[in-house]
Amino acid sequence: MTQVMEKSRLEEAVAQAHAENKALPGGANASYIPYLASVPSDLFGVAAVTTGGEVFTAGDAKFEFAIESISKVFTMALAMEQVGADTFRKKIGADPTGEAFNSVIALELHGDRPLSPLVNAGAIATTSLVAAKDKEDRYQQILGIQSAFAGRPLSMSQDVNGSEQSTNFHNRALAWLMQSAGAMYSEPMEAVDVYTRQCSTLITAVDLAVMGATLASGGVNPLTGKRVVQTQNVAPILAEMMMEGLYTASGDWAYTVGLPGKSGVGGGILAVAPGKMAIAAFSPPLDPVGNSVRAQAAVADVARALALNPFGPAPAPR
Ligand code: GLU
Repeated sequence: MTQVMEKSRLEEAVAQAHAENKALPGGANASYIPYLASVPSDLFGVAAVTTGGEVFTAGDAKFEFAIESISKVFTMALAMEQVGADTFRKKIGADPTGEAFNSVIALELHGDRPLSPLVNAGAIATTSLVAAKDKEDRYQQILGIQSAFAGRPLSMSQDVNGSEQSTNFHNRALAWLMQSAGAMYSEPMEAVDVYTRQCSTLITAVDLAVMGATLASGGVNPLTGKRVVQTQNVAPILAEMMMEGLYTASGDWAYTVGLPGKSGVGGGILAVAPGKMAIAAFSPPLDPVGNSVRAQAAVADVARALALNPFGPAPAPR
């Protein structure tokens, strides 16, 4: 297949996924974080970025939204770079909890130790694991790696952060439970503060696709050409995304789409096709599990149209 045909196929897949899912009903904005409840629900953007650095977009792909839970992937990458994948797995865990993203029960069932870096407890412990001299340094390192993944300087939304810092009592409880088991690696409330800030970074669907394309290309950002993570750490990151990236629907996602993914309650979803590209979409209304209704459908449609499932063709989910 020529490069030109490939390009038109990609363009069409992204445009079609946007057009066909634009009017998809259902879902509701996250309401437990006041700011997120106020984002216009009809926003919808789709983007794909290849490992060659080509960018394809449709709809509101340049609208800035809160990264939220997708930030967990990049903080995991940072901590893994610092301590190594093996130590990281021993300290944070690698297995799906099978429970909601902010579950206390999942902690209680495992001696108050986290199981997975991609749900809140393990993600807060991961933030605490980043080697830093103080709170500001910890946050700047995390913002730094998010920006390196995106290939541009990202910044925090004061509105999102303010909204979350004043309502994040549940996450503080998770951190204290882990502290009781010796599973926090910095002062617990410092870690929650920084974790909350890392969730408040503003990104677009294009940024998210570039971030994913950096993983798709073995840790090198395809737009800047800069290495962001060691290649040896990419496979464990993608493995975690495959197992628990879409909350308690991660199994359904693997069954129907077959790509490592990550979603956030801000309405973003990312999927990575190793060696090829990343697909990202954003739309605020979430299904009951916490995944964006339209973004899920759009990313799945692009992946299917381009036959990206590494396991082969899978049945359509609807
Ligand atoms: N900041 C959110 C929280 O900690 C992120 C949750 C998510 O996107 O899953 O509750």
